[in-house]
Amino acid sequence: MKDLFVIKFGGSSITKKEQNKFEMRTDLLNKVAKELSLALKKNKKLKVILVCGVGPFGHSNVKEYDINNGVTTPRHLEGVKKTNKDCDFVAKETASALTKHGIKSKHIPGYVVCVQKNKKVESFDVKAYKDALKKGLVPITTGVMVKDKELNWSVMSGDQAIAQLAHSLKPEMVLMGTDVDGIFTADPKEDPTAVLIEEITKDNLEEVLKKAGQSKAVDVTGGMKGKLEKLAQQLGGVPAEIFNLFTAGNLAGALEGKEIKCTKVRL
Ligand code: ADP
Repeated sequence: MKDLFVIKFGGSSITKKEQNKFEMRTDLLNKVAKELSLALKKNKKLKVILVCGVGPFGHSNVKEYDINNGVTTPRHLEGVKKTNKDCDFVAKETASALTKHGIKSKHIPGYVVCVQKNKKVESFDVKAYKDALKKGLVPITTGVMVKDKELNWSVMSGDQAIAQLAHSLKPEMVLMGTDVDGIFTADPKEDPTAVLIEEITKDNLEEVLKKAGQSKAVDVTGGMKGKLEKLAQQLGGVPAEIFNLFTAGNLAGALEGKEIKCTKVRL
């Protein structure tokens, strides 16, 4: 779809994922909402779908209630309810930051559009996203627990949602905002000698996958490595950029097609 950007607000940036706190980074959310609103005003054709990572609101609940490998007990079910309520809260907070900057949005929860089988997406209906875009709204979706034909419920990560949306809607670009400048040769928070990989193509994908590690924070969906694996499976020629959402101007720059510090994914 022409002029469509699918944008991820990573859990590591919009939530206090690393400290494992059930808190949003409202300052950052407001800053990026402002950049987005300016970009939308500048380019009237621009269409955006937002996918929010949920950080602890998802990962910590899933761990605490032990619901990553099947939902069979009343306590598990309680965990699903709590997790989805918390993930909906992330969407609500994001929507209210957008509203403050004059952007109308619509929350489309993953559990309404997606069914999985053994943690793998079996169906993901994009109609609701298309309808919202037609009305000039910014659809918001998050990582969340969805119905699973084998496990009753399972985690659909924000990264899985990104991959599905990219595959079905063929946006101009996928923009993935996180808390580091892109994909490095090692976790930059652990290894000061880690070097930013500026471009990932079919030629270096295997090598990068071998190196890219897990998220330092509690992450049941695979951190940077999981992110890249999901993208590699589903991008189908859609270009992606992984960049630091904390750096002022990055989001606006990427939306305007400017060169920003990032990892370009061209698979
Ligand atoms: P998000 O929640 O923003 O989607 P993740 O927490 O899943 O992001 O992944 C980002 C984290 O992955 C970074 O904070 C970083 O510490 C860690 N990480 C591990 N290995 C790498 C790597 N090779 N390059 C970049 N980041 C990495």
